[in-house]
Amino acid sequence: MVKAEKITKMREIIKEWKSKGLTIGFVPTMGCLHEGHMSLVERAARENNRVVVSIFVNPIQFGPNEDYEKYPRSLSSDLEKCCSAGVHAVFCPNVNEMYPDKSLAFVNVESLDENLCGKTRPNHFRGVCTVVAKLFNIISPDRAYFGQKDAQQLAIVSKMTSDLNFDIEIISCPILREKDGLALSSRNSYLSSDERAAAVVIYSALESAKALLKRGERSAGNVKAAMKTEIEKQPLAAVDYVEVVDAKTLSPVEKITGTVLVAAAVYIGKTRLIDNFIFCLDEGGKQ
Ligand code: AMP
Repeated sequence: MVKAEKITKMREIIKEWKSKGLTIGFVPTMGCLHEGHMSLVERAARENNRVVVSIFVNPIQFGPNEDYEKYPRSLSSDLEKCCSAGVHAVFCPNVNEMYPDKSLAFVNVESLDENLCGKTRPNHFRGVCTVVAKLFNIISPDRAYFGQKDAQQLAIVSKMTSDLNFDIEIISCPILREKDGLALSSRNSYLSSDERAAAVVIYSALESAKALLKRGERSAGNVKAAMKTEIEKQPLAAVDYVEVVDAKTLSPVEKITGTVLVAAAVYIGKTRLIDNFIFCLDEGGKQ
């Protein structure tokens, strides 16, 4: 496995692979790798000749009062995990390599960032799109793998890729969970043991919402109210948002038809965690 800290080195490796006609699968991450990340890596390894993982905590996607400084970093164990998983190259630039001067060019996907995390994290998706576009230009993969866990990110990156004609297939991968249902996240490492136990409320509220929808509830307001009530019963939890949005436009819906994304962002103590599920109805309103 090659470790590339410099863009020039990464580009040389890619050039050599491309000259041999090898396909490249790319998994962008911020590191502190867990089984969720590794499920993307495994899929990339199945579907491509070569796998590149990037590990970069991207400063421009964090707000001024967010956790950029304390975001967990564990490069040496991440490299070991990648090596054992058969990753061919890890791209792990430092901030100066990615942003040598004050950047003046940014990538912005309009409208899709107006709700959900985009509402409470202004400029977050501009930072995500900008770094993903830069990584796409450096790595030129055939396929890039993103988790459904960050559903809004997946929708926005997909739209950026098609609108800007990146010749890259975006692959959506399912959410990996702990045994009790908590979605795996690098930020779970911030939780105390009481908070870790409390955090399961996010998954149970989503499961209750799913059960309501399966029983025929079609009012988004009722679904959201039920989720809020359940989450607020947990003293360590505070709702950032619970939303039911159209899965394509990410605009809030009132009446549930077609395919919707039910999503939540919840503070467990000081740690903000997100989770979601997709619910589909056909044209006749059947599940
Ligand atoms: P991050 O390092 O948090 O930026 O995540 C890197 C990629 O891994 C993103 O595409 C995430 O959606 C994905 N990911 C994070 N957690 C999970 C999970 N629990 N299951 C599946 N994919 C995940």
